[in-house]
Amino acid sequence: MDGLSPRDTVSLQSLFDSHHPPDDGLIRECVHCGFCLPACPTYLLWHEEMDSPRGRIYLMKAAAEGKISTMDESFVAHFDRCLGCMSCMTACPSGVKYDKLIESTRAQIERHHHRGLWDRFTRWMIFQLFPHPRRLRWLSLPLWLYQRSGLQRLFYKTGLIRLLPKRLQQMDSLLPTLDAPFQGFSYGTRIAAQGTPRLKVGVLLGCVQRVFFDRINAATIRVLAAEGCEMFVPPSQGCCGALATHVGREEQSLEAARRMIDTFDRQDLDYIVVNAAGCGSNLKEYGYLLRDDAKYAEKARIFASKCRDISEILTILSPQAERHALPMRAAFHDSCHLLHAQQLRTPPRSVLKAIPGLELVELPESNICCGSAGVYNLVEPETAHDLGQRKAEHVARAKAEILVSGNPGCLLQITKEMRDRGQPIRALHFIEVIDASIRGVTKL
Ligand code: SF4
Ligand code: SF4
Repeated sequence: MDGLSPRDTVSLQSLFDSHHPPDDGLIRECVHCGFCLPACPTYLLWHEEMDSPRGRIYLMKAAAEGKISTMDESFVAHFDRCLGCMSCMTACPSGVKYDKLIESTRAQIERHHHRGLWDRFTRWMIFQLFPHPRRLRWLSLPLWLYQRSGLQRLFYKTGLIRLLPKRLQQMDSLLPTLDAPFQGFSYGTRIAAQGTPRLKVGVLLGCVQRVFFDRINAATIRVLAAEGCEMFVPPSQGCCGALATHVGREEQSLEAARRMIDTFDRQDLDYIVVNAAGCGSNLKEYGYLLRDDAKYAEKARIFASKCRDISEILTILSPQAERHALPMRAAFHDSCHLLHAQQLRTPPRSVLKAIPGLELVELPESNICCGSAGVYNLVEPETAHDLGQRKAEHVARAKAEILVSGNPGCLLQITKEMRDRGQPIRALHFIEVIDASIRGVTKL
């Protein structure tokens, strides 16, 4: 096993500090049966035990017992390579809470491991930009000009793009086509329901999504209004902290959670609606994340109990808006944070199946991540690409006209991977498809 030496095995000092180390009780719930191995994307790629859920739990245990003495590159790499997709949790018959284990391990790594300069710089850059919708809003202008002027095309045509470091190339290739700069900030704080209000909901706009995927938020608001939801859409809302939670930036994640709770406080809402799977699974964890915070623990628990994915809301509400026919073949991609982290397999499918004429195609390996996984495809571009190509192969074989998913990160990743194969496909959030059906739009 990497990272173990005879000297390491005699140390009894835990590698972790006392602030929420991976819980020993949770670690012991793993009975090493190996049922999770075929469900793990990194194990599928490399067949390395230490890049499987069981191997990672073994490493956590060894580190906690002081059998590993340093948090060196090889130790950290096994955890960096984990996508946090939680496919292992769905597969595990013993109910091992791997999400809690990886979350606390990553926070320990962030506190104690000194990353290389370039790694620190790119992570710093990502976290200076992505969780800040107002900064992204300004950035959208030069990016829009870069695309509109033809400069981006020229970079690819001349091969100049290959002179950039791999992570910057990856960021560029994932950049969606911007219709206009400065999008995502035009909604009123209160939006009325059409007809008699049936629910009063808060709407989360997201940070990256708000600027780069305003079309998804616009579709969400139209569908909620058509289904009788009165909406509270606070313009001051920021990032929910999902990206920070995912990589172990604990303080940043908790601060974002507290701000989000304050933003929606005292509104007497039935639900808070989310249309990005990664954000949704993080919001539902607020009670756990803020469990030590005397001021916020209770508020966080109540907030989390009201959070619902948009597919859950549409399942709660029986449809009142007419669905028009959309005669087309759509490949459905499960986002890991809907399927595994939130255990929502049926709701997105059932709301799509209510559309007349829409043929939903299931993909093989639907439980396996596409490689997007928060900022994973930016910090681990090669692995993300290998998984993305595996997914794209299945999408191509489905011979569908569109690809549908419930998470903007997956849409970006699969769009890029299909383009790389020379088989571009239109990728849409399922709420856009429902919106099109309600509005009678047949050209997607
Ligand atoms: S979260 Fe995903 S990548 Fe990580 S160990 Fe579990 S299945 Fe493997
Ligand atoms: S399936 Fe669960 S109990 Fe079995 S090895 Fe994986 S994590 Fe451990």
